[in-house]
Parts: sequence; structure tokens; C-alpha cells
Amino acid sequence: MKESLFEFDIENYEVGKATSGFVDFPSFYGFQKVKAPVYVYRASKEVSPCVVVTACVHGDEINGLRIAQSVMKKKLKLKKGTLIIIPTVNIYGFLNKQRYLPDRKDLNRCFPGSEKGSFGSRFARFIFQRITKYGDIFLDFHSGGAGRFNIPQIRCDLKTKGIKELVDNISIPLVVNSSLRDGSLRESINDLGKPCIVFEGGEGLRIDETITKYGVNLVESVLSYYGMINEKEKFIEDKIIINKTKWIRAKEGGLLISEASRGKIVKKGEVVGELRNINGGLVNKIKMEHDGVILGISKSALIMSGDALYNIGFLGDDVPEDEEELFDFFDFEM
Ligand SMILES: [Zn+2]
Repeated sequence: MKESLFEFDIENYEVGKATSGFVDFPSFYGFQKVKAPVYVYRASKEVSPCVVVTACVHGDEINGLRIAQSVMKKKLKLKKGTLIIIPTVNIYGFLNKQRYLPDRKDLNRCFPGSEKGSFGSRFARFIFQRITKYGDIFLDFHSGGAGRFNIPQIRCDLKTKGIKELVDNISIPLVVNSSLRDGSLRESINDLGKPCIVFEGGEGLRIDETITKYGVNLVESVLSYYGMINEKEKFIEDKIIINKTKWIRAKEGGLLISEASRGKIVKKGEVVGELRNINGGLVNKIKMEHDGVILGISKSALIMSGDALYNIGFLGDDVPEDEEELFDFFDFEM
């Protein structure tokens, strides 16, 4: 028997009100129903502009769910268009406190997906078809993985049509410009010629209400930019644009004592932390090799040699010559 899955039909949603409900996602093992929350606020008969907010594409990155909840709780008065929120896209990972899908695939490497591929690929297709049916602008909420904290920032490709104007008008201080081809939701939506911005902030399996505030402001500033709400407060407009990032890795193992100023510009030569051995003796001090901003930080103190400690965004032309590590998200599984 074929499952009856969520088919997105905007006509099922009343104009002028917000609707929160649960819809059917592919079941566990063909029999255990899986329901996921979906919020639709249709302000006008005309669906456009349609803003789509997604979170928990990585199931353990729950700060995005908290941001979605906070936006839904705000009782926004939309003047036009449509707001769609899917707070737990990878509901399977979410239920298991895991980043991945049940087939161990990273959903954010499976887009746009295929109906004949692996479960990851089929599920990516399922999500992609439904959210892109009506969506014009997309915001995808992520955080660091478990044990890694990211300061609030967005990642986007400033070359994609419409992104630069959008970024100039939204509320976020740090912008990481990247155009990697990686099978992410962002890449696949950009390929349709539509803007998609990834928000990164916080740590896996944790909620940080400062991060939540940044995320909610970002959503509101996007709605305001498209004339869907009145701008209530002055959003952050000054931006730092980062074009290159790199992890500082531990040269040796030890206990990490961090002294990093998250989100502040740190000068070349400044000490951001130190590694100590089991007796408390100093192994080495970790210094900045170039001017930069600390975008992400290890929250684990027990460090093996080679472990990623700080994710640095470089400013200006003073960037390292050595080969850049290829990853798109700070929560990249190493
Ligand atoms: Zn993520």
C-alpha cells in the first residue's frame, strides 16, 4: 500500500490566518507514521512573496527549531504574501538526537534529490519539491554540531541573483560568502535562481536564547525587506564580509583552555587559548596567524592532535597561502 504523504496545496490554507499543524512524512519501516510540524501563514490570495523557513535539516541542530517557535509565537501581522515554516525537516534525526537520516546520509548533501535514489536522496526530493513549489526566498537554520559553537552568521553566495541586495538589507553582522558545490539545500535553491541564506548559530543539542534573538531578527528583517511586515526596530545593517575561512587545529593533544573573544576581530599574534597536559603543564599557546574573526569554537576541552579548535574567518587580503579545507558548513563532520 502506498503511503499517503504530505502534499503541499496552498489552497488548503485559509487566507488571513496562521495555521500550525502536523503533516505526514515518510513512515518508519513502512508502518510507523511520522508526523512533522508545518506552519503556514497566508496573508493574501496572492501567494508571493513567499518566505520559507527551514530548520533541523541536521536533526540535532535544535536552536533553529527554537528560532522557528519564537517566530511562530510572535503573532506577526503579515500584510501580504506567505510565510511557510518547517521547524524539523529531518524529523528522523531530531527524534534520535542525531545529525543524520536513518540511512546515515547527511540530508544537506542530498539535495535536490531523486525519486529513485537512496532514502536520503528520495527524502531530499520530497522536501525540495514541496518547499520550492511556492517559495521565493529561503532561510535555512543551522548551528554547530554537538560540541561546537558557532557565533551568529549567515552563509550565502553573493553572486546569486538577488542575494547581495537582500544581504545589504537584513539584520546580521557577519556574512560568509561561499559558493561551494556540495548538494546542500542552499546550492539547489540557488540553482533555481532563487535566494537562499543559511543561518549558523549556537551548538548542537543546545538552545541559546541570544542566538535565538539573532535568528528571529533575521527572519523579521527579511519579511520587512519584502514589505510583508512593518519594520519595528532598527535592524543591524553593518556587515563584515568573510571570503575565506579555516580551522585552527591542535598541533598536539591536551586540555583546551579557551580565551577566545567570539565574534570579535582578533589580531595576528593574539593568544586565543592554550593546551595543557594532564599534569597541568603548558603544551602550547594557540595564537592567531592572521587577523580574523572567530566564527566557531570547540566546546570540548579534551583534545586530540589535529582536532579542530577555532574556525576563523579572514579579513581583507591577509589570508593564509596554504590550501583551504573544503567544507561548506562549520558543523562539518571531520
Ligand atoms: Zn547544519
